[in-house]
Amino acid sequence: MGSADLHIHSTASDGKLSPGQVVKLAAEKRLEVISLTDHDTIAGLAEAINTGRKHDVRVLPGVEVTSIFRERETHLLGYCFEVDDSGLVSLLTEHRQARVKRIEWIIGELNNKGLDLDVDEVKAEARGGNVGRPHVAAVLIRKGYVGSAREAFYRYLGDRVLGPIESSYVSCREAMQVVKSAGGAVVLAHPGVLYTKNELDELTEMGIDGIEVIHPSHNYELQKKYEDYASDHNLLVTGGSDYHGIDKNYTGRFGEVTISKSWVHKLTRMTDRRKQISVNSK
Ligand code: AMP
Ligand code: ZN
Ligand code: FE
Ligand code: FE
Repeated sequence: MGSADLHIHSTASDGKLSPGQVVKLAAEKRLEVISLTDHDTIAGLAEAINTGRKHDVRVLPGVEVTSIFRERETHLLGYCFEVDDSGLVSLLTEHRQARVKRIEWIIGELNNKGLDLDVDEVKAEARGGNVGRPHVAAVLIRKGYVGSAREAFYRYLGDRVLGPIESSYVSCREAMQVVKSAGGAVVLAHPGVLYTKNELDELTEMGIDGIEVIHPSHNYELQKKYEDYASDHNLLVTGGSDYHGIDKNYTGRFGEVTISKSWVHKLTRMTDRRKQISVNSK
């Protein structure tokens, strides 16, 4: 059992708890290091860091960037970047807008199927945070179209139902470059059964720094597979609960899906070096 969790969401995207509430809960669960990794935003970071100072929880800068790899959406985790890096800030600003456009497209598809919902009520559900499909799911539940988020994804929102999703997210390659030039590390999020060996090799070649080995969607076999792959390719290993504060089945158990601090040290050592190099080259 470790005491770090590097994959957590808050109300800055599709999580249920505010950044401050997440950090307080982390303190109760005796977590020592966490990273808030909201979808395409770092808006919750300052509040998380401040609360962390009061409750003795170290909060590392993090973000889960949506990007396009082989015409599919791929989640990349970025860690320990400079939070005011202009390249990163503008990518996240673009993605906030890309999310709205994508949700508009999804709602259009659902309207075509005869469902009555509109963009404003879904945006309201996000309460100023980055909008995503879970907010659509919440509206579908409230209106009685489905009984749960799981059902909403199964019937209306899953990648398989929607088919090729229209969006203007940046490519995987570009997202990696942006996070790295902000001094951060890029980690492939929850690879699970999402990639073939070939695709994994391509992503490695493209320049991921690490792989998320520990995740609620990974059984022991998958953990082992990715830990071995990381060690063979000299990649960092990370992990976390992907806590959203919703739907226990999907989000895993906060405080239980954890990693050891030695993994975190390897990550921060690497990003410290990367930032040092970029300072020296300026
Ligand atoms: P989006 O950011 O719009 O692409 O939505 C992705 C998010 O939807 C994930 O981060 C999860 O929070 C949630 N999600 C994805 N699949 C499911 C599912 N089958 N059931 C419930 N929530 C899901
Ligand atoms: Zn999410
Ligand atoms: Fe994800
Ligand atoms: Fe996530």
